[in-house]
Amino acid sequence: MGDENRKILVVGGGISGITAAIEAAEAGAEVTLIERNPYLGGRVTQLNQYFPKLCPPTCGLEINFRRIKQNPKISVYTLAEIESLSGSPGNYQAVLKLNPRYVNDNCTCCGKCSEVCETQIPNPVNYGMDTMPAAYLPHAMAFPFKYVLDPGIVGTEEARKCLDACKYNAIDLDMQPASLNLNVGSVVWATGWDPYEVEKVDYLGFGKYPDVITSVMFERLSAYNGPTGGKIIRPSDGKPVQSIALVQCAGSRDENHLAYCSGICCLASLKHATYLREKNPDSKVYMFYIDIRAMGKYEDFYVKVQSDENVVLTKSKIARVSIDRESGQMLVEGEDIGRSEKVKQLVDLVVLAVGMKPGTASCKPSLDMDYDDFGFVTGSGSSGLIPAGCVKAPMEVAASLQDSTAAALKAISTAMGR
Ligand SMILES: Cc1cc2nc3c(=O)[nH]c(=O)nc-3n(C[C@H](O)[C@H](O)[C@H](O)COP(=O)(O)OP(=O)(O)OC[C@H]3O[C@@H](n4cnc5c(N)ncnc54)[C@H](O)[C@@H]3O)c2cc1C
Ligand code: SF4
Ligand code: SF4
Repeated sequence: MGDENRKILVVGGGISGITAAIEAAEAGAEVTLIERNPYLGGRVTQLNQYFPKLCPPTCGLEINFRRIKQNPKISVYTLAEIESLSGSPGNYQAVLKLNPRYVNDNCTCCGKCSEVCETQIPNPVNYGMDTMPAAYLPHAMAFPFKYVLDPGIVGTEEARKCLDACKYNAIDLDMQPASLNLNVGSVVWATGWDPYEVEKVDYLGFGKYPDVITSVMFERLSAYNGPTGGKIIRPSDGKPVQSIALVQCAGSRDENHLAYCSGICCLASLKHATYLREKNPDSKVYMFYIDIRAMGKYEDFYVKVQSDENVVLTKSKIARVSIDRESGQMLVEGEDIGRSEKVKQLVDLVVLAVGMKPGTASCKPSLDMDYDDFGFVTGSGSSGLIPAGCVKAPMEVAASLQDSTAAALKAISTAMGR
């Protein structure tokens, strides 16, 4: 490979986009990988552990970051988005918008700018559960390993203080948004997924009660590098959590919200049961499910978690989450489908297993793509646009890797006109 039209653009730097980029580049293609966040890794970066082995996601990501660094055929742009895309298989024209980071490659990550910055902003990696200075490293394992200045402070005294604190000439307050034109033979679309806005399911109490959180927030609450340093405590009063209710299908399999099954959340919740049980051996976990989806090789993981007598699984549809004024605990109510009786359970914390929405909800390619009824990409009208990973359907990391490797092969053959 090597001709001008044998280049590949990968949109989305989550595990799927990273995989597609590396596989294509290692097979000889020239790859541009763009990501709208200031770091690569996508949602996987925000996980505490991976099911079923319960290993930290950083291991796998680090290996991939090394492969990217070592491969001159991959160009990475973070804080980058597509402005326009036109053309046909073998010959696409993309215009990228590159947003300023206000920090250049001189950054040594000394952290001095952050120390002097008094303006606090919500921490997006922790889903806003805590705040951080507006001069920040997105997270401890961030790639690229470089600080960022929030655009909100640029032009203020705060930014000037950061500039003065930096001894390495790494802050550039004159950085401007820039455009980059690319000619590529094919495009891999790997914009992933977003958690469903579960506050829309008003009877579940999210947004109303601080002790009702989402499953993605629980990943951060359990993580050593999360907002509490890995202590599972109640957001309302900071007390250690003794009991949780894991409420399944929060917004999924519901005609009024997401009509489909999000596929992953049963496994994620089984994993969440292990997070609490390991940290607090005296704890109790109540999981309320309609069905448990743990297919194929994941069945063993389900059976293992189920064998813990302090993990109580009840086939039940939860109808209401409220606060019990007397105890200050959360009250979960529903119907035990197996026993045909009412369920009433008091717990310290409610964790809602939120559904996964396609990443096309916030940005769709300007060229033809075929979508299913829910906005997931089923294929492309013009064959040079190749979807990969969770933008096609909710899937776990192993399936995302397989799918993205296949997408890389398809991208190469399309770029080569085969
Ligand atoms: C609660 C929960 C727990 C989970 N736990 C596990 C687990 O333990 N094990 C497991 O295997 N799987 C787990 N998963 C699933 C896992 O998160 C997904 O498999 C994985 O995130 C898929 O990666 P992706 O790259 O397809 O999407 P994403 O991780 O969403 O990455 C997409 C990337 O594209 C970027 N992007 C989006 N739009 C644009 C745009 N327009 N321009 C540029 N960039 C863009 C995003 O910023 C993001 O970085 C879990 C899911 C949930 C909900
Ligand atoms: S921008 Fe400067 S002060 Fe801030 S972390 Fe980087 S080198 Fe240190
Ligand atoms: S995976 Fe489980 S929790 Fe998620 S939507 Fe499907 S059945 Fe509900």
